[in-house]
This record gives sequence, structure tokens and C-alpha cells, in this order.
Amino acid sequence: MATAAISMGNNVLGASAAAPYVLKASQQPLVGIQLGTHSLLSEGMEWVLDFLQEKGGIDTLITYSHSYYGADSRPDSVLADHGKGVQSFKDRNFPKVWVNHNPSYFKDLLLKHEKPTKKNDFFGRDAFHEMRKPLDARGMKVYVRLFEPWAKNGVGRIANYEKVLTVDINGRAGAGPCWNNPHYQAWIYATVKDVFTNYDIDGIQYGAERVGPLSELLFKGQTPNCFCEYCTAKNQGKNIDAQRAKEGFRELERTIRKAENNEVPADGVLISIMGTVFRYPEILSWEGNFYDGGEEINKGIYDTIKAIDPSIEVGRHVDHQQSSWDPIYRAMVPYGKMADYNDFIKPILYHDILPIRLRYWYIERISGLIGRDFTEHELLQGFYAMMRFHEDAEIPLDEMENRSMPPAYVASETERCLAGVNGRAKVYPGVGFDVPWHLPEGGVAPRPSDPEQVYESTLAALKAGAHGVVASRDYDEMRTENIEAFGRAVRQGLKN
Ligand SMILES: [Zn+2]
Repeated sequence: MATAAISMGNNVLGASAAAPYVLKASQQPLVGIQLGTHSLLSEGMEWVLDFLQEKGGIDTLITYSHSYYGADSRPDSVLADHGKGVQSFKDRNFPKVWVNHNPSYFKDLLLKHEKPTKKNDFFGRDAFHEMRKPLDARGMKVYVRLFEPWAKNGVGRIANYEKVLTVDINGRAGAGPCWNNPHYQAWIYATVKDVFTNYDIDGIQYGAERVGPLSELLFKGQTPNCFCEYCTAKNQGKNIDAQRAKEGFRELERTIRKAENNEVPADGVLISIMGTVFRYPEILSWEGNFYDGGEEINKGIYDTIKAIDPSIEVGRHVDHQQSSWDPIYRAMVPYGKMADYNDFIKPILYHDILPIRLRYWYIERISGLIGRDFTEHELLQGFYAMMRFHEDAEIPLDEMENRSMPPAYVASETERCLAGVNGRAKVYPGVGFDVPWHLPEGGVAPRPSDPEQVYESTLAALKAGAHGVVASRDYDEMRTENIEAFGRAVRQGLKN
């Protein structure tokens, strides 16, 4: 039964009830591209498919069934012209739901999808139905790209979404849904059940771009969550005392707030944090419980879809913090665990944007938090060693803003993922190019990639043994010369 996974409970992190995925020998790697469904409708479906196949060697579209995630409002300055003019987001009113949902799947559920109206662009179009024939004519496939909705895009659109958000230690709602909330779980399973029952779609790439409360506090200074009734009950079911967890998290937060003000305890910030965690192991239980909920959802999606059609490929998007810089996430959700309920893993390995992200989204941030005892140089050196970055990828701090990671980063991270899944899932690295930089003062700045580096990085993933590659992050942003460079590497990789 597809719904059996809803009550899987704590079992999800142990031995999987599903049969292990057996890798079939495949001579042909998957060559995917992430693109907004709006791009197909704006630029013309047949035109886009021909363009992607010819320039990029693409055989698989990975496109949104729902865009509550919110990647549809970027400024013209970061959008590429593929020969049909820049398709500006200005004055557009795209729907967030790109499929026709059948209300019967949601009738007993708390959450209901937003229904597109005549005010939306492309009202009345059914993109996933319309694309099937042109895809088949070209021997191409389509995978749904599904993210969990952020609160800012879900509240006010998805009925009752505010009721499933995480609850922090002070009782305030968080930025995303609680992974342990049964109403949220039931809604996301109903969503995929409806889509995969009523459309002819070849696969899904599911992702949730969040990390646990301990990472959020120690690395970003966020107030700890989730203390909703479901997380509390689930922890108490494992004899974890919610009051003790709260006390521990409050003590940790006090240490972090002091570190932000450069008030360092006599034993240092790191030792003080370790002391709190050792005295309050409930903190780690709480962290684990949050991740258990996330993995339960991934497995529930897998089981739901496999019950409909076992040939549909189910995979996991692993975002940049998850793939490349959060050590707690890496320790608690290893690739080998994801392979229990995924046919493929798509780790984000964006060579071009990683150094600047690493510098400002990680090293600089933690230097005022858990890393207060160290200089940024020391943190970076320790980071490279701990995360086993290839020596060629150890870019010095003062060069990070303007350099890209070398192909060795893509190769070594592909190899690490392959080693983790150990033949139980395929690995399709996301090769990222033309990904803009989010400016600290707000807005985004274009960051055009070098075609030669795109070529080398794509080839590095394939040479490392990847079962495919996914051009990332969004077709909207990708310049034609880089789609061509990606295509050249794919064709070269196929020859080797
Ligand atoms: Zn919760």
C-alpha cells in the first residue's frame, strides 16, 4: 500500500522495508537539465526541446510540477537570452501549480493546493500533458522537480499551510514545514500520488533545502526548532524529555548569542558548546528526530510512487549546504542512507559559485558563532581537511570571491557520493553554471561562468563514474555558450 509509509514511524532510519535498489548496467548516462515549466511555455515547447537536444545533448527535463519554492522572480540581469529574447519575470503572474490536481485526492486533508485562476499566465494550459508527445518524438524524458514549499510562498496560497510550519523554542513559526507533521506528510504523499497516477511522467527529483536545528543554531545563529506537538510527542515516544531538550538548546543559544557579541567564556566557545551537548544529549536526539522526519518523507514519496509504477525513477536533490559544507548534515544523513529509498542521488556540485558561498555563507558566518575561537584562515584549513576536499580545491580565503572550484572538486565529490551509495543508487551530479550571487545588501548579481570550466567540470563528473549529469541550476540563467560547453563534455564523455 502506498500509504503504509505514513506510519513507518522511527523505522525509517533503520533497515528499509523496501527491497534494495539493484543497479542495472546502463551504457547511456542520463543527461538532464533543470528548468522552469514556464520556460517551455514562454519560449515554445518544440523550440526549447530542439535547442536543448542540439546544444546540450539533453535527454531529460527536470521541471517543476509546483513552484512554491519560488525560483520564478529573478531580475532580467541574471536571465539568459537563448535566441528568443530574455523572458523577463516582470509583470508576469505565473501559477505555482503546473498540474491539474484532482480534488478527490485531497478531500480529507488539512492542506489544499492553490488553484490557478484566469489571472495566471498560461491559464488553461496543461504543460505536463502537452509535453509528452514532443518529448516522445525526440526520445526524451521528463522528471518532476519537487521542493517543499517555503512558508513565504506557501502561506496564503496553500490552505492551512501556517498550521504545519515548524515551531521554535519560543513558540514562533519557522520558515518551512515540520517534517514530522502528519498533515504535511499526508499532503505531499497525496500530491505525488495524484500527479503520478494521472500523468505520464518518467521520474521525480525531490528535495528539501534545510538542515536540522543544531546546524541552524551553531552555523547560522537561528533560534532552535521544532517544538511542535508532533515533534514533542515523537521524542517523548523515545523517552526523550522535551523540557531537558529545551533547557539544553536554551543554554546553547545563550553561548551563541554571547559569541555573536564577542563574549568568549574562559573555556572557549567550542568547549562550552561541547559541554552543553554532553550534559544534554537530548539535543542530539532532537536533531536526529528532525532528520528522521525528513527521511521518512523521502521514503514515503518513494513508496507512494513505486506502488503506482515501479519503473518511475525516484531521486533526491541534495542542496549545496547538504552536499558541500554542513558537517552535521553530512554525518547524520549520509548518501548511503539516502540510497535506501532513492534510485538516484543528485548532489549539487556547483564548481563556480561554491568558493564565494563557502566564504560568506559558511566561514564568515561561523567565525562569529561556533567558530569564534578560530581565525577565518584556521577555520577554512580545518574545514578543507575535515571535509576531505581535494588539495587542488583548497582555494585560499582571499581568492574565494573571484575563483571557481577546479574540476577536482566535482570529481572528488562525485567519487565520495558513489562510494557512499555503493552501487545501490545512481549518481547524477548537478553541474552548476551562470548561478548568480546573492548580494549581502539584497538583490542578485550575475556571475557568468567560463565555458571551458563548465566543459571540464561536466567531463570530470562523468570520468569519475557518474551515471549522468544534470545541467543546473536553472535554464533561465544558463547562457547558450555554457549549455553548448556542457553538451560538448557530454558527447566527449560518451565517446570515452
Ligand atoms: Zn515539529
